[in-house]
Amino acid sequence: MKLIRFGEAGHEKPGILTEAGKRLDVSAFGEDFDERFFQNDGLSRLETWLAGHQASLPEVSDTLRLGPPLGRPSKLICIGLNYADHARESGAQPPKEPIIFFKSTTAICGPADDLILPRGSVKTDWEVELAIVIGKKATYVPEHDALDYVAGYLLHNDYSEREFQLERGGQWVKGKSCDTFAPLGPFLATRDEIADPQELAMWLRVNGETVQQSRTSEMIFGVAYLVSYLSQFMTLLPGDIISTGTPHGVGLGMKPPRYLSAGDRVEWGIEGLGETSHFVKPSI
Ligand code: ZN
Repeated sequence: MKLIRFGEAGHEKPGILTEAGKRLDVSAFGEDFDERFFQNDGLSRLETWLAGHQASLPEVSDTLRLGPPLGRPSKLICIGLNYADHARESGAQPPKEPIIFFKSTTAICGPADDLILPRGSVKTDWEVELAIVIGKKATYVPEHDALDYVAGYLLHNDYSEREFQLERGGQWVKGKSCDTFAPLGPFLATRDEIADPQELAMWLRVNGETVQQSRTSEMIFGVAYLVSYLSQFMTLLPGDIISTGTPHGVGLGMKPPRYLSAGDRVEWGIEGLGETSHFVKPSI
């Protein structure tokens, strides 16, 4: 299944995207796609319910805004420098153990919502990433079982203000957490939709120019390892998101570095997880 949420920010309704690309309203199922939904086996209950109801569901207009495809999770955890070529362009050694940081969940927005530059920003940068959605509570999970704890995958752009991240007093969180810095979607693809999460092409363009182009096979630490690894340090809850890092081609690594300005258009996508685009707007 491909889950979507549509409507005004903060008032999104749940829906699905069919194989034929139609958006259907599943509000009648009576649940939002949130922690409780995933925890209570919502995916398989929804699938069963759809078998009896899909034909009569209202269609949703393509012009309606898409929100993030799941409700605000308890955690949005990111993996730093998880592609060797990105570590090199950042002037860092590939890590021996995953580098992790949190991104504020208030940064989450819809996939095509405008990117609003933070006040005082001069170094806002892009990062196309594969994000994992946790399907059930995970504590001390062995790697060989880890994929059982994955509900699905979605597209994430881990926007980063490099000055806030690297020059404003240590720790990366300040540069990662600004409003609109975590567009998610267009949809959440359930695990069965993605045959191998380590074999997906990914790309990002700025004003029509391809700047990132890689594959998830280039990750240093893969999906199963990361779920298992993180669960050794914290309990992962249903709906939690793990963003698995970005490949080379960010603005920070360019010579000279290149950052986003109001009016720029950013487009990005991952094979099997759709694509999206939006505009950069000045700070409020
Ligand atoms: Zn990142």
